Amino acid sequence: MNKFTKEQWLQKAKDLKPKADLFINGEFVPAASNERFETLSPRDGSVITTVARGAEIDIDNAVRIAHQRFEEGVWSRIDPRERQKALYRLSELMLENAAELALLEAIETGHPIGDALNVDVPSAARTYRWYAEAIDKVYDQIAPAPVSALALISREPLGVIGAVVPWNYPLIISAWKLAPALAAGNSVVLKPSEDTNLSSLRLAELAIEAGIPAGVLNVVTGYGAEAGQALGRHPLVDKITFTGSPGVGKMFQKYAGESNGKQVALELGGKSPHIVFEDVEDIEACASAIAWGIFYNAGQTCHGGSRLLVHEAIKDRLLEAVIRVGAALVTGDPMDPKTQVSAIVNKKQHTRVLEYLEIAKQENANVIFGGNAHQPVAGGYFIEPTILDNVKINSRIAQEEIFGPVLAVTTFKTAKEAVELANGTEYGLAASVWTQDITLAHKVAKAVRAGTVWVNTYDVSDIIVPFGGFKNSGFGRDRSLHALDSYTALKTTWINLGNEPI
Ligand code: NAD
Repeated sequence: MNKFTKEQWLQKAKDLKPKADLFINGEFVPAASNERFETLSPRDGSVITTVARGAEIDIDNAVRIAHQRFEEGVWSRIDPRERQKALYRLSELMLENAAELALLEAIETGHPIGDALNVDVPSAARTYRWYAEAIDKVYDQIAPAPVSALALISREPLGVIGAVVPWNYPLIISAWKLAPALAAGNSVVLKPSEDTNLSSLRLAELAIEAGIPAGVLNVVTGYGAEAGQALGRHPLVDKITFTGSPGVGKMFQKYAGESNGKQVALELGGKSPHIVFEDVEDIEACASAIAWGIFYNAGQTCHGGSRLLVHEAIKDRLLEAVIRVGAALVTGDPMDPKTQVSAIVNKKQHTRVLEYLEIAKQENANVIFGGNAHQPVAGGYFIEPTILDNVKINSRIAQEEIFGPVLAVTTFKTAKEAVELANGTEYGLAASVWTQDITLAHKVAKAVRAGTVWVNTYDVSDIIVPFGGFKNSGFGRDRSLHALDSYTALKTTWINLGNEPI
């Protein structure tokens, strides 16, 4: 679905009047300090608008109202089918307002408008729908207690959930957290990335229209060290669900330990490898998956396939095919519906990726494709899809998350060596194995320490399966019924029936 031409999208972007205050208790309010900060478009570096700079006092207001609503039971204790109805409606409203949400998403993140419209919005809407559908299908349990007792194991919502998310997929990543948290009956305070607030604020407004009571879903915009930290330390927050960088993720563990010992779930970064054996059946399909796996969203995907580990016998053929796919990608203006690879989210990240390209040269990697900044729109932050060959496992470009459209290529000779290379970083988010040998595929999949292993495919992302990491990629899982579980606490109710016959 491509609704408009580039010119029409640009006009719509000009006409936008995004609401950019805090969303607390069902209404937009300025920050208590009245301070604001600018949000910029990565397309051309221009100022889109200013956003309320929420801080500790605003987080406190939002958390207290979320807690109050939870205690009142306006959402936590209503008939689950009422929750279901509201979340269904939210999903429908997102689709009815898809063009606006997509535009808000694209102007702040730099996602190609076609992806925002055809992937981000429908995928997030489907997530709310999926958890709504689950609400009346999850049963509690009765334990095998002695006949003199009835022991019930029931699930209850945790209370107030603090969701702290990054800038790369604001609608999708927040949906992975908000949808199960709300479905389970919790109240939520969402702290979006300071770079990407607008679609989350519009979502919160739609949630009210959908029938989610005021104060159940609140959005506090602001900087991480201020609003994010305050949420992490708030004593009335029962769980933090975080997606972002490993360094900040660990801060949330510290905040939790130093405050009320709240639960913390962390989805952190990755350095995900493709492992391609010489017997790969469809080299074109493999090349396409590799190129899309790292160039989609300009590589700003936590599970982007940023490393290619390839058997030396097939390397040249495979790289030739990957370059062919990469060269055919339409790179450019995010507002052009034809664009497939677009901007880097902000200047800082743009500079960081370029620094890694310099490091790559110092580490004697060969730039065999791309390797430069470019500027299809003046003032914007763009980097060419790039392939680095001859990358040594211990080099920084093989070890550190670049979070840009940069593929690092390393060869192997044996399966053992391939697994050692795959496991040879601090991360463990995702991996893929390409071979026709089913036994080898299973063995490698088992041996690779990653939360998701794809076999003969990559980045098939579906709400039906859990997503999260091993090692420094974090713990806890988004998506699937496991995520729904994780926003509940088990309660045991032991009822003494006595031994007297009736
Ligand atoms: P980030 O860690 O800088 O920021 C994430 C969130 O944390 C933002 O909302 C930010 O405001 C907040 N934050 C920053 N400093 C904070 C502090 N001191 N205290 C409290 N909150 C703070 O990450 P980013 O740059 O927005 O996103 C990129 C990172 O996210 C990459 O490392 C990427 O791999 C990771 N990521 C992981 C996944 C996953 O599911 N594993 C998904 C997407 C992104």
